[in-house]
Amino acid sequence: MILPTPIQKLIDAFSRLPGIGPKTASRLTFYLLNASEEVAGELSEALRELKANTVDCPICYNVTNAGRTECEICGSSERDPAIVCVVEEPLDVLAMERTGGFQGRYHVLRGALSPIEGIGPDDLTIRQLVGRVKAGGIRELILATNPSMEGDATAMYIQQQLSAVDVKMTRLARGLPIGGDLEYADQTTLLRALMGRQEMG
Ligand SMILES: [Zn+2]
Repeated sequence: MILPTPIQKLIDAFSRLPGIGPKTASRLTFYLLNASEEVAGELSEALRELKANTVDCPICYNVTNAGRTECEICGSSERDPAIVCVVEEPLDVLAMERTGGFQGRYHVLRGALSPIEGIGPDDLTIRQLVGRVKAGGIRELILATNPSMEGDATAMYIQQQLSAVDVKMTRLARGLPIGGDLEYADQTTLLRALMGRQEMG
């Protein structure tokens, strides 16, 4: 059966999303085809606004509402600017915030080093992080990249880049699932890993 072009187009678009196979893509597409105008309309508006109404915080590179000059955390006087938690993705910030155990600020790398995928230091916000630390005022960097090969390599690279700078660098304690993602860790495990963070040797 050859599907009408608009249907095939949406199936293809869904299929490109992480974690969505062709079957789920077809199911979502036909669900929307049969759903009310309102459901489909809300989805298309949300998609349009997703890019248009968000910007990267120029300090920590977390995503924030368009029109802001800095994100809520960077702009908050309640958050300790001397402790910066370095994570791979904006969702990791959310995971750390859910623990309720971190009162410092963040730096979002926007990925991890991966020679296999061709992701080098310039594809991440490492240079910006180094600049931020060199500007002074940061006492501790918690290198909370994922406990994976890429995450470990990224933490080590950052440590090398800052070896001449007087800043304490810690890594989250183990107990996090190896090869796992921070965003999927449960709150208790992540909080324990944060509390048990160790200085990098
Ligand atoms: Zn920020």
